[in-house]
Amino acid sequence: MSQQGVVVIPVLVHQDNYVWLFPTLPGKMAAVDPGEAEAVIAFLDGYGVSLSHILITHHHNDHIDGVELLRQRYQAKVIGAAADAHRLPPLDHAVVDGDKLRLGDQDVTVLETPGHTLGHVVYHTEDALFSGDTLFSCGCGRLFEGSADQMWASLQRLMALPGNWRLFAGHEYTLINLKFALHLEPDHQGLKQFYQHANTLVHQRQPTLPVRLEQEKQINPFLRCHTTNMAQYLDRAGQSGAAVFAALRQLRNNWR
Ligand code: ZN
Ligand code: FE
Repeated sequence: MSQQGVVVIPVLVHQDNYVWLFPTLPGKMAAVDPGEAEAVIAFLDGYGVSLSHILITHHHNDHIDGVELLRQRYQAKVIGAAADAHRLPPLDHAVVDGDKLRLGDQDVTVLETPGHTLGHVVYHTEDALFSGDTLFSCGCGRLFEGSADQMWASLQRLMALPGNWRLFAGHEYTLINLKFALHLEPDHQGLKQFYQHANTLVHQRQPTLPVRLEQEKQINPFLRCHTTNMAQYLDRAGQSGAAVFAALRQLRNNWR
């Protein structure tokens, strides 16, 4: 994918968690969801750069376990949802929906996306969307705390963002998500093509991310719950997007 907009670097931890790094100032970077510190330190020290900020999307351990070590080592400022401050590492900036932060030279905007957890937030800077466990390529997060209505509303907010934006999700789940999507829609050309591409990348140990939001809107079944096709696949013809979403999420939970 051609690089335009902010440079974003993946650090893979815990098998399939992405810590996303982007520059904030010369010699300084921000890290999104450092679920582990060691791999992030290895990258930063390898390039002789420091960490200015840590952005947290939600409280699950696989997204926060590296925060304290990184904060101490680099004196990084920690940013997370005000609603979840009680169960996040201590925050320097507790944020709410619509907050705009200036991280060095980067402007970052906060969107609340309850569903996976009630306090989940996503961040975007320029054309980069850091979606945590709300939106994955060809999938979405499980409903651990929120309702289907909440998650569907959160996904609709993300669908309304510009199509040329790049999605940087919290996990490398693309291939398994594509298998589920193809199980639902075996003849979907866009899905078949992306499966080939993603499969090649995974076997080369390359990230399948980022992907463009416009592509996700075409092929991610969870972003198409308002379509007649998806309603029919799920025997929910004529029902609301939220009802179709609830059925789809249930089907995914019980698949394999
Ligand atoms: Zn999670
Ligand atoms: Fe996670």
